Amino acid sequence: MKLRRSDSWRVVVVGGGIGGAELVRNAATKEGLDLVLVEPKDRIECQALYPDYLGGGIEIEDMTAPLDPFCRKMDAVHVKDRALAVDFADKRISCERGDLDYDLLVLAPGAVQNYFGVEGAEKAFSINTLEETVKARRFVEKKRPKKIAIIGSGPTGIETACFLAEKTTSAVYIIEMMDRLLPTLSKNASILMEKILVGKGVEVLTRKQVSSIRDGGVTFADNSSLECDMTIWTAGVRAAPLIERLDLPKKKGWLLCDQYLRAWEREDVFVIGDCGWIEIGGKLATKTGMEAEIQAKHTARNLARVAKGEPLKPYSIRASTDSPVALISTGCGCAVGIYGDLCVPIPKRIIYTFKSWIDKSFVKRFKV
Ligand SMILES: Cc1cc2nc3c(=O)[nH]c(=O)nc-3n(C[C@H](O)[C@H](O)[C@H](O)COP(=O)(O)OP(=O)(O)OC[C@H]3O[C@@H](n4cnc5c(N)ncnc54)[C@H](O)[C@@H]3O)c2cc1C
Repeated sequence: MKLRRSDSWRVVVVGGGIGGAELVRNAATKEGLDLVLVEPKDRIECQALYPDYLGGGIEIEDMTAPLDPFCRKMDAVHVKDRALAVDFADKRISCERGDLDYDLLVLAPGAVQNYFGVEGAEKAFSINTLEETVKARRFVEKKRPKKIAIIGSGPTGIETACFLAEKTTSAVYIIEMMDRLLPTLSKNASILMEKILVGKGVEVLTRKQVSSIRDGGVTFADNSSLECDMTIWTAGVRAAPLIERLDLPKKKGWLLCDQYLRAWEREDVFVIGDCGWIEIGGKLATKTGMEAEIQAKHTARNLARVAKGEPLKPYSIRASTDSPVALISTGCGCAVGIYGDLCVPIPKRIIYTFKSWIDKSFVKRFKV
């Protein structure tokens, strides 16, 4: 590994979301690391609370924390900028407003909405960013749409459908191209969720592949269509644009990592959170806040080991795709818990309280 430039190791973290911010919080307590966080936004955001916000249950303050005071407290520097490219040979990052040198780099720019090339989909509402979620909530409150179509039935689509069915008088449709809701989770979870949604009056449409979205409705691959006055796209993510531009090995567009959470064959570049393809010991890490957080803690410890000249410790995946863990809010102050094939058969208040506590206490950690 190339030698560091001064007595301490200059660690540049790209992305101040769940993974990046948690890494700064943990690495700040370690010796020999100078931390620089590159993040264009002013605030750390907890995406898990966006559906709650959309349904009017919480406000922006409950799900975000300002980055500058947090970084000052951690003795880290917040560079309010967007990384555009990395020169791995010179260990230099080009940002919109200047360049930054690093000794160690942590890539944590997350993921963005994937529209899979569906015509008109980019014009639909999305709740993948705070900005989009604020836009969607304003539309719901001001325009009071009569019919809302939610595309995609992963946990985000399901939570969105539940909150909108509870808080609005709109007819809510959830549309899934596979033969069951929550296709990445167990069949038991799908059956339970369909029962809950139908009980709330949500219209469930499975085996319906959206081919285009226009003002006033959605058209399907079988040429049928659904008229609606609001469409919300929740059907998948892809790696952040920065990752697409990096000349590093990838799998399905995600950065390929080794067992120490480093970019493939790069000793000085660590990768955490949604942007990575993290496959270790036959398990593939889920793209969840929970995984991003644990990966951040592990990487902070490994960065400290680099600073001390000690060997790195391999990462062990907690939430893998073969036994995913999910807490899904179902509205009315309840949620269901899913772990692999197991799921709690009815929504419970205590599960929602637990989920809400996890998400809100994550945000509180960063408030100064
Ligand atoms: C609506 C919704 C609900 C969710 N619910 C849950 C849930 O209940 N439980 C759960 O575990 N997970 C949930 N997730 C997933 C979870 O939010 C993500 O897995 C987690 O945020 C990933 O963390 P990350 O640090 O990789 O990315 P993010 O938290 O997305 O952070 C990435 C950061 O990088 C910044 N960035 C991007 N590009 C650049 C660049 N070029 N330069 C500098 N900065 C950049 C972005 O501005 C952003 O702040 C949900 C996601 C969504 C969208």
